[in-house]
Amino acid sequence: MRSDSPPSPAARSGVVYLVGAGPGDPGLMTARALELIATADLILYDRLIPAGALDGVRPDAELVYVGKRPGEVAMEQGEIEARMVAEAAAGRSVVRLKGGDPFVFGRGGEEAETLVGAGIPFEVVPGVTAGIAAPAYAGIPVTHRDDASAVAFVTGHEDPEKPESAIDWEALAGFPGTLVLYMGVKNLPRIAERLIAAGRDPDQPAAAVQRGTHPDQRAVLATTATLPGAVAEAGLGPPSILIFGPVAARREAIAWLERRPLHGRKVVVTRARAQASGLAETLRRLGAGVIELPAIRIEPTIDSAEVAAALDAIHSYALVCLTSPNGVRLLFEALSSRALDARALANATVAAIGPGTARELRRHGVIADIVPPRSIAESLVEALAAVEVEGRPVLIARAREARDVLPEALAEKGAALDVVALYETVREEADPATIAAAADADYVTFTSSSTVRNFVAAVGDGLPESARVVSIGPVTSATAREHGLEVEVEAEQHDPAGLVVALLADAARAAG
Ligand code: SAH
Repeated sequence: MRSDSPPSPAARSGVVYLVGAGPGDPGLMTARALELIATADLILYDRLIPAGALDGVRPDAELVYVGKRPGEVAMEQGEIEARMVAEAAAGRSVVRLKGGDPFVFGRGGEEAETLVGAGIPFEVVPGVTAGIAAPAYAGIPVTHRDDASAVAFVTGHEDPEKPESAIDWEALAGFPGTLVLYMGVKNLPRIAERLIAAGRDPDQPAAAVQRGTHPDQRAVLATTATLPGAVAEAGLGPPSILIFGPVAARREAIAWLERRPLHGRKVVVTRARAQASGLAETLRRLGAGVIELPAIRIEPTIDSAEVAAALDAIHSYALVCLTSPNGVRLLFEALSSRALDARALANATVAAIGPGTARELRRHGVIADIVPPRSIAESLVEALAAVEVEGRPVLIARAREARDVLPEALAEKGAALDVVALYETVREEADPATIAAAADADYVTFTSSSTVRNFVAAVGDGLPESARVVSIGPVTSATAREHGLEVEVEAEQHDPAGLVVALLADAARAAG
């Protein structure tokens, strides 16, 4: 190739990624999908993608909804493909994000062919398809040594009465294995009729799973003949997967989702988004539908003069008190900005409120000397009783709006006290759709007084009426009561794990 020849289109072009986002549970997105979403310039996404699938996008990424629902199309297929080609040709990295798997009833094949035709480089990222995942979450293995050695994925989109139907219903009726139908719930009565007319056993087990893997998944088990009635009675609609075959009956023994302790419960998590994920994830794993309604956001204040002064004096403190994992994280950020590390605390006794705070300290190479038995300031005051602080420099590094219990107690003991705010918690505006989604919650969880104050301010009159209030401890409970909330559940261990334990116990009691 001569050096002055123009580069090939592929060399200049960006890449298109045809990515499967899985069936709905965000945990079923592949590592590759998350990685590509986090780096894409442009994301063209469909309707049936998991909640939060786009949380990890670059702040400057462009997101374009191109989904369709029956009778309404955001962007025509040809237009989507043209856009994909044009953007990639202009050098952008494009993620085409689809529900489930891109090559299973997702038109991914057509899109790939268009890309081949246009000379655009692309990559296909398979996803967990609904036809396997929805049955799995309903306790139905699509194959089984005893019941099914084959499985067929079929579209139920076409009306079986249509003479030009591309589907050979006779062949399907005789198929020796499990039939998994996508897009079939609307045509179900005619599909069942047609299968039976063509010789499928009317008494064979069959099932339908609506919104499989989502927190509000619903499933019914019936037979080929009775499934249409059962689905109508339960009010199931799209998106649903239909399963025809003996494996459907395995649900009776295997159904696991519905047996999780918080299945069917809706829980509101009000922590700041950065911290909420651990608690939300634990609750989700226990089966709860979690609504993250971050009432607060952490705003670091480590650039302040008071923090600078404390850092100047950091080697001199006899005692350093840390009151939250955020405080620890930000203290070490501030230290590191001055090229300091854990050794800056080498001379100090280090006290931490709460096991989470102690854990965060350990992560930064410091084992706390004092962790009081209860995660509240009063308990730390007691634990510090034997520590001599008279006339000695003491640092309390914490949130701006913290209570005065600890500073007052240490001042009383004659400490030369520096109380420094590392961050403040500011109100996060809640989006109206999320507030509406929280309206029929079973539980609202509060992990600090500031979450109570800001949550009440954010939702105003929209407070979920039926919800039971779960508080992390007595201080938070008191704040909740001050704001007119009745606290039904209070954690005995005042940290997120303790809150989950208390919530589980309450849910178990309610279930009898
Ligand atoms: N590419 C997707 C399928 C797209 S077709 C995949 O691989 O999963 C859309 C159909 O998929 C819906 O009509 C429904 O039948 C099915 N579907 C998608 N998500 C579903 C879910 N969470 N639960 C049940 N069915 C689902």
